[in-house]
Amino acid sequence: MENTESQKPYKLASREYKKENTIVEIPNNRGQVIRVGGSRIVTIAGPCAVESREQMLEVAAAVAASGAVMLRGGAYKPRTSPYSFQGLGEEGLKYLKEAGDKYGLPVVTEIVDSSLIPIMEKYVDVYQIGARNMQNFELLKKVGMLGKPVILKRGLSATIEDFLMAAEYLLASGTEKVILCERGIRTFEKATRNTLDLSAIPVLRGLTHLPIIVDPSHAVGIRDKIPPMGLASVAGGADGIIVEVHCHPEKALSDGPQALYPQQFDKLMHDIEALAPVLGKSIAHIRLQPLALSK
Ligand code: PEP
Ligand code: MN
Repeated sequence: MENTESQKPYKLASREYKKENTIVEIPNNRGQVIRVGGSRIVTIAGPCAVESREQMLEVAAAVAASGAVMLRGGAYKPRTSPYSFQGLGEEGLKYLKEAGDKYGLPVVTEIVDSSLIPIMEKYVDVYQIGARNMQNFELLKKVGMLGKPVILKRGLSATIEDFLMAAEYLLASGTEKVILCERGIRTFEKATRNTLDLSAIPVLRGLTHLPIIVDPSHAVGIRDKIPPMGLASVAGGADGIIVEVHCHPEKALSDGPQALYPQQFDKLMHDIEALAPVLGKSIAHIRLQPLALSK
């Protein structure tokens, strides 16, 4: 572009480069396409970490019944302590995928190193780049080259410009399917795990065409404080939310204190459903039956 309007260091991610909102399309195994960035609010739910087959089947049933359209769960966990549970690896990917497929939910899981791509490729619908890896540029380049949908989480101390530059790496290396995720930033405040930067939603909306979701779980870190912030994220214009849910959080191997009970998640979904029309939106749903059977 030759005019002076774009002084920004990122290009492909900018609103100047593309005026209309990007909608990231994610197909499920029922002939349905989940659209992130349109007029339907999407909810991604599931545990922090995949712990067992039973855990995943139980939680997938619960979140699907409440209206989640994608299933999350980490198989490779970037833990602050090397002595904490590190994830089940490929075994975990299998449980995640089996549970997602059973309910028509595409799966979201974090990739911590590009050497894992050959293992992960066959199971993953949406790659998540975690906050700690937001500026791992070699990882961004390799994951971008796959052309698959990516949820990019905002780094712990990343400015909005840093965040968009990280998105630019993904876009420049070959994927157009980038979803930004605000997940709280480090501040002096100790009362919550991080500080949810809600204003990032309208600010990003002005700067970029990419869809924006919010993770109130890692932002707040305290179970009972998460639903109001999920609701506030939707009210603030987020295209969706990603929330940690666990059927037995007291036994969770990671992030138990911030995992919603299924009933709390269900209530949150009802509240979002009630709020959506005020925003001119509705909630995305998964078909109960595969497309061929429902005709
Ligand atoms: C997660 O989603 O489980 C996670 C580790 O998130 P973040 O990278 O935002 O801390
Ligand atoms: Mn977590």
